[in-house]
Amino acid sequence: MSPNQTPVLADPVIDSRVPFPHTTLPLPCRTTPDLYRIEHLATRPELKRAMAKITLSCAGCPIVRDCLKFALANPELSSEGIWAATTPRQRKALRDRLVRRLGPDWVGVVAEREETARRRRQTARSAPAPRRDTAMAHLELESIPVRPAPYEPWREPLTDARRAQNRRLLEAALTHKAAKAA
Ligand code: SF4
Repeated sequence: MSPNQTPVLADPVIDSRVPFPHTTLPLPCRTTPDLYRIEHLATRPELKRAMAKITLSCAGCPIVRDCLKFALANPELSSEGIWAATTPRQRKALRDRLVRRLGPDWVGVVAEREETARRRRQTARSAPAPRRDTAMAHLELESIPVRPAPYEPWREPLTDARRAQNRRLLEAALTHKAAKAA
C-alpha cells in the first residue's frame, strides 16, 4: 500500500468480504513512505531497483498476504501505487488468473474458504481432537526419528545435564580410586 492510501473503511467501494487487517504493528510502507514513491522514476533500471527494495520491505510486513488480497479484491481502490510489492499491472494479471481459476466471483470463493478455515481453527481450539486424530498424531510423531544426534563435546556447548553427568562420572571415578587406594 503506498503512502496516503490507507483505506477508509466507510468507503462504499470497499469489498467487506476481504477486509484490510487492523493492526497496530508498524507497516514498512508507513514507516518508510519515501521508499514507496516511485511515480517520479523515469527509467526502467531505476524502477527495477526501487521495486527490488520495495519487495524486500513488503516481504518483512506482518500483513503482506492480507494486503495483497485486499488490493486484488478492491481494484478501484488499488488502481494506483504499490500494494504488497505489486504494481497495478501485476495486480491486474493476478486478478485475471484468479478469475480463470476460481471464476468471476473469486473474491466470494476466497472469502468463503477463509471463513471455513477460520471456523475449523476455532473448532479445533475449543473441541478436543477425536480419538482417531490423536492416535494418528501419535503415529506420525512415532515415525519421526527422535533419537538425539550424538553428543559432540568439542562442538556443542556444555549443557547442565551434561555438566551434572560429568560430575557424577568424576565423583564415581574418584571414589573408586580412593576405595582402591585405601
Ligand atoms: S505489504 Fe507492503 S504495501 Fe502492504 S501494508 Fe505491508 S508494507 Fe504496506
